[in-house]
Amino acid sequence: MQEEVLKAPSGSRTGDPLYPDVLVVGGGNAALCAAIRAAEEGRSVLLVEHAPQSLRGGNSQHTRNFRCMHEGPKGILSGAYPEEEYYADLLRVTAGKTTPALARMVIRQTTAAYDWMEEHGVRFQPSLGGTLSLSRTNAFFLGGGRALVNAYYHTAERLGVHILYDTEATALTVEEGVFRFAVIQYKGIRHEVHARALVLASGGFESNLEWLEEAWGPSARNFLIRGTRFNRGRMLKEMMRHGASIIGEPDQCHAVAIDGRAPQFDGGIVTRLDCVSFGIVVNEQAQRFYDEGEDFWPKRYAIWGRLVAAQANQVGHVIIDSKALNDFMPSVFPPLEADSIEALAERLGLEPAALRKTVDDFNAAIVADRAFDNLVLDGLCTRGLAVDKTNWARPICDPPFYGYTLAPGITFTYMGVEVDEKARVLFEKTGASPNIYAAGEIMAGNILGQGYTAGIGMAIGTVFGLIAGEEAAHASR
Ligand SMILES: Cc1cc2nc3c(=O)[nH]c(=O)nc-3n(C[C@H](O)[C@H](O)[C@H](O)COP(=O)(O)OP(=O)(O)OC[C@H]3O[C@@H](n4cnc5c(N)ncnc54)[C@H](O)[C@@H]3O)c2cc1C
Repeated sequence: MQEEVLKAPSGSRTGDPLYPDVLVVGGGNAALCAAIRAAEEGRSVLLVEHAPQSLRGGNSQHTRNFRCMHEGPKGILSGAYPEEEYYADLLRVTAGKTTPALARMVIRQTTAAYDWMEEHGVRFQPSLGGTLSLSRTNAFFLGGGRALVNAYYHTAERLGVHILYDTEATALTVEEGVFRFAVIQYKGIRHEVHARALVLASGGFESNLEWLEEAWGPSARNFLIRGTRFNRGRMLKEMMRHGASIIGEPDQCHAVAIDGRAPQFDGGIVTRLDCVSFGIVVNEQAQRFYDEGEDFWPKRYAIWGRLVAAQANQVGHVIIDSKALNDFMPSVFPPLEADSIEALAERLGLEPAALRKTVDDFNAAIVADRAFDNLVLDGLCTRGLAVDKTNWARPICDPPFYGYTLAPGITFTYMGVEVDEKARVLFEKTGASPNIYAAGEIMAGNILGQGYTAGIGMAIGTVFGLIAGEEAAHASR
């Protein structure tokens, strides 16, 4: 089937997949939204996905939810989440580093995007209840991101989008901001794709460890990548080479602390550890380095990637005791276990006496003037330590003791191409391109200068994917 698809009908370019109206580079959420939208406009579309079919869907296959504005109860979303509140949430996490007009546009269009997603095969389910429930702000995908991606591939195929897996776009020919053709490697063979419009939806560059090293220094060698190995930033590099305006800093990204035993790529959400606020975290010298109880874990987990990245060898170790074991979501890999702090230290490769002293000092500094309550900021704290713990400080004294080693887990990078409200890529010399569009992580830096609020990655990709698909369809007429 895929072999056939590259054979041009003799004597005609009509119907030849190498001469589509619209070429979409990427195979995740943003690419699929763009491809479906352009195909619905009656255009011929070629979508090239670097991953094989079994690994298709980029980081989008790992997602769970989408942050959605709504004025009243909508589908599985409760209450209302108006534009101003959504925007305030975004401003808080980005510390104002966003493009207000684009950010507000994304927020407003999430409401219609929700309906579009349902119409194109996505099914939503209510979020779990409890503390900090996201049932008002975030719509969860039934079956997760993998089901969403599968539904979109199914829809795209039905609409006649040509899909090539195992196909990397390696180079672009662009003249004065105008796209001419792309070079793709299909099963190791070079082809040129001449399209009238191009949509770049090829993700960030988080899987390009050499590029991360340029931004972060040698510590990047110890980073684990939570998502796909195929987001290597090749199209972003091509856009830089052709003089596109670049937005965002190369070291800005979403990074969390994950289980150090996670695979180098594609560990996904299950390698996340939610126990930090219930114990202490030490570095390789068995020293604590940050307030583990600063706030509820969902509000703080995104800072721990950078905190761990700043430690020697980019390693941290969480230490808890038996009474904390059932306070958090079970981990995918079991923790290391020992009957004494010294034995646990040995299992974690730490100096036993040093860990013993850190735990003793911590236990002795606890101001035990109230009850532990993990549903509120309970104020159960330590006093007098170089780094105090401000909530949920319980003595670590009940064996068995447990330990997890943490590593920085990179979710996605933010630096990308600058775009306008029509998803057109802006060039330094010539301004908005007449036929190059971008959507998703490759332009997320327009909205996310820093920080992150759950579900906005899919909001950016969906809204900009639909705009890019529609605009590319018009441009290709
Ligand atoms: C573990 C994890 C959980 C997440 N959870 C959420 C969540 O719940 N909600 C949320 O909003 N966001 C979440 N995110 C972020 C979210 O995944 C991204 O913001 C979003 O998926 C980006 O979509 P995209 O289409 O731009 O990129 P991707 O989905 O990563 O797709 C990029 C595609 O481009 C392809 N590609 C790359 N280079 C080339 C090339 N040169 N040629 C051809 N193809 C190429 C890749 O193979 C891939 O298919 C999560 C991310 C991770 C890693």
